Amino acid sequence: MSKTLSVNAGSSSLKWQLFEMPEEKMLAKGIFERIGLEGSKSLVSFEGEKHEREIEIIDHRQSVLLLMDELIHFHLIQDFREITGIGHRVVAGGEYFKESVVLTKENLKNLKSISYLAPLHNPANILGIEAFQRLLPEALSVAVFDTAFHTTMPEEAFRYPIPTRYYEDFEVRKYGAHGTSHKYVAAEAAKVLGKPLEEINLITAHIGNGASVTAIEKGKSVDTSMGFTPLAGVMMGTRSGDMDASILPYLLKRDDSLENAQQLIDILNNESGILGVSELSSDMRDLEVAVSEGNEKAILAYKMFVNRLKKYIAEYFGILNGADALVFTAGIGENDTDVRRDIIKGLSWFGMELVPELNVRGANGIISTPDSKVKVLVIPTNEELMIARDVENFREAWFKQILEKG
Ligand code: ADP
Repeated sequence: MSKTLSVNAGSSSLKWQLFEMPEEKMLAKGIFERIGLEGSKSLVSFEGEKHEREIEIIDHRQSVLLLMDELIHFHLIQDFREITGIGHRVVAGGEYFKESVVLTKENLKNLKSISYLAPLHNPANILGIEAFQRLLPEALSVAVFDTAFHTTMPEEAFRYPIPTRYYEDFEVRKYGAHGTSHKYVAAEAAKVLGKPLEEINLITAHIGNGASVTAIEKGKSVDTSMGFTPLAGVMMGTRSGDMDASILPYLLKRDDSLENAQQLIDILNNESGILGVSELSSDMRDLEVAVSEGNEKAILAYKMFVNRLKKYIAEYFGILNGADALVFTAGIGENDTDVRRDIIKGLSWFGMELVPELNVRGANGIISTPDSKVKVLVIPTNEELMIARDVENFREAWFKQILEKG
């Protein structure tokens, strides 16, 4: 029995979950918010109780110290050494990291060398990794990449139709994201369907604040909607998703408030999507309240959101030449019965029909009729557990090696 932490370090936050492994029991979870900013706080929840406190958190290094303090304070551990493994979610692994790795000096060096692929995310992930390595040098430290699951995409899917030198010289290609989630729900869906994952084709729709759709052929990602960065693909809470690149220089010329391309990219990442069109909120729950009140901008944002998801799902039926099931997951995918209903209504031609009584909030399993040629499933995602499992797999492999060596 060992305790494993699953860590997701963002630019100003650090989310964590503590598992007892190999039992896969989640003991506690929490988040440090607004790291390095005013009003920072720590939230811890376990056994149905939530604990919140405001506390000054200067940087990621301090947040890691505070995390260990919280674990001791709430008697989740008695000693730091009880934490024997830490799995870190890393956003971009580039072409180099095709699967999870133990963070040896060499791997960490290589990880640092590809930070330019995700300048907003990877440096924060690395800060988290180094802070833990300093504090818990004995613990097994593993990186789990958001992009790894998509490294099976064939070249015709991951290349952009632009001059080849941009791929060869600058690695411009589709990397995708949310890989850990797509991989997890695909495996769970196969169990629900009672078929080996290697024998079925799936389309998985991770629809949260960030959203992506993936085409999975016999357990392997063959195409996904996010691109070089998570900005591409479907419309999201604050991200635009796909758009014509010539809009960028056009806006730079026309809008005097814009000084450079990065500013525009920030707008496309943080002020677009549902927020940008509705001019209200990035949150689907707020949007749907406004839709029910007849707010026209909200109605338009909702229709665009559903349309773009339908387009990607339909496209992937084509890429896969048919699928056994469509799987919904993440905040909206798991809870929003209207979005699911409206997507399926528009794709009934593909052989999907929902049972309204099964299409409820928090559904888990099949929600389509027995006659549906393509099954529709809701599977709650669990990226943190996947991360803890990867740490456990390395531990088991390591023990095996020691035993074999005698
Ligand atoms: P992320 O992890 O990308 O930040 P989540 O997967 O938590 O996002 O999803 C957040 C989205 O899920 C928000 O748009 C939120 O409104 C939506 N959501 C959560 N619960 C519900 C619900 N009951 N009904 C509709 N939407 C919901």
